[in-house]
Amino acid sequence: MNHSETGKKHRVTVIAGDGIGPEVVRATQQIIEAAGVRIDWEPMEAGAAVFKKGIASGVPQETIDSISRNRVALKGPLETPVGYGEKSANVTLRKLFELYGNLRPCVELPGIIAPFAGRKIDLIVVRENVEDLYAGIEHMQTPGVAQCLKLISRKGCEKIVRLAFEVAVAEGRKKVHCATKANIMKLTEGLLKRTFEEIAPEYKESHGIESEHIIIDNCAHLLVRTPEWFDVIVTTNMNGDIISDLTSGLTGGLGLAPSANIGNEAVMYEAVHGSAPTIAGKNIANPTAILLSGVMMLRHLGEFEAAMKIDHALRVTLSEGKALTVDIVGDRHPATTDEFTEAVIGNLGREAQNYTARAYRPIRLPRVDTRPDFVQVGERRTVGADVFVESASNAVELGRSLEGLSEGSALRLKMISNRGTRVYPPMEGGITDCVDHWRCRFILRDAGGDMQDADLLKLLEKVGSKHRWMHIEKLAMLDGKEAFSKAQGED
Ligand code: NAP
Repeated sequence: MNHSETGKKHRVTVIAGDGIGPEVVRATQQIIEAAGVRIDWEPMEAGAAVFKKGIASGVPQETIDSISRNRVALKGPLETPVGYGEKSANVTLRKLFELYGNLRPCVELPGIIAPFAGRKIDLIVVRENVEDLYAGIEHMQTPGVAQCLKLISRKGCEKIVRLAFEVAVAEGRKKVHCATKANIMKLTEGLLKRTFEEIAPEYKESHGIESEHIIIDNCAHLLVRTPEWFDVIVTTNMNGDIISDLTSGLTGGLGLAPSANIGNEAVMYEAVHGSAPTIAGKNIANPTAILLSGVMMLRHLGEFEAAMKIDHALRVTLSEGKALTVDIVGDRHPATTDEFTEAVIGNLGREAQNYTARAYRPIRLPRVDTRPDFVQVGERRTVGADVFVESASNAVELGRSLEGLSEGSALRLKMISNRGTRVYPPMEGGITDCVDHWRCRFILRDAGGDMQDADLLKLLEKVGSKHRWMHIEKLAMLDGKEAFSKAQGED
């Protein structure tokens, strides 16, 4: 007889979502119930219909309240209809509940024709989910130059790195790679690398987990050459977004890829795919991705036996190939969503051949200090400022003009760069196609001094009398180290 391992009745917020969402979510609920887990589903709305009601976030307050209460949600895909709201309801939910870790397992499934079938791929991408360029802070700096802020915090890095190691511990994995572009973005991407390198020895000592930093482009290259080498990959938001779609492609595509959004206060499980509007309402969608997300949810709820049972039943169904959906078998007698669901339910209790499931354990969520000023410094000094100027003149004209304007001030022009390359004083032999966005670096004439706001304001007034400036960045020394990057060619 089916029974729940915990004996508990769990309460879970369920969002059916848009397009194929209601069909695949219902299939998942039926299979979970058939596996004997007792869940009190709390159905809530989000997505297209909510936007159309005029709620700009796509997420009504009742849904937010429900997730706040239940702390666990299973969510179908959500659409942002054209002309309604700027922000995606998915991103709103992830940010609202600080779901900072996106887990994207990529495991070879039987019976699926995929480019790397037979290579025994079994990895998990742990993607930072709330920071980086996806903080979505963008400004047009000049009419023709756009900027997006890439925000990476030490606290965010510490949470995601620890989560990656805790996932490795919970899943009995042996190695964690940290994939970054720290060779170019030393402060932002480098912060993840440094945090990883500081934390990794703890897990080597306590659990024997190996660690290695890898440049993200090399990681992408190796993922399509030797994907079976990888075990856990932790990475920043945008890198993770891209490589986790790449890894889904290795094992059969988005339609089969599950994901979990993990926060310390709430968790939300969803398929990687979207609402697939072209096949919605036809009873032909494949529920595998959301079902596997549901399996991850069951482990979170402590229902490891039921999770294992569904995992086996799904594998039996896929390998027997008697009731597979159209995305897998094409026009070779495809099954409907309902038939596939019934087949999985019928196979509950059967063991998949040649498959040894992992001995999963609960993931211990990292608890890090929640103070906003997570990092404290001893000594702090401001040694100058970058003033970003919009100008249609050339580098030499602008340089000479700014030198004249800063005469007699506490700050002197050190250099000007254009999209990161020094153009003033000019670099010998350099050919830079400049745009009207100049970073003008001013530093204190007194090398050991600490710039005061009054010094900067005086300079800005002078610069502003002749040129349009759009923003400034102070140049700090933190504990004796430069806390800013240099331009290409700057000494
Ligand atoms: P998509 O919904 O993932 O669909 C792309 C194609 O993949 C579908 O047309 C379908 O191919 C196939 N597919 C996806 N899931 C499938 C399944 N379960 N079973 C069978 N086939 C499946 O991507 P999209 O068309 O780019 O996005 C559609 C909408 O979903 C957009 O509004 C987007 O913003 C939203 N979206 C939401 C989420 C989310 O909620 N997390 C994620 C991604 C996209 P065929 O047409 O060949 O049958």
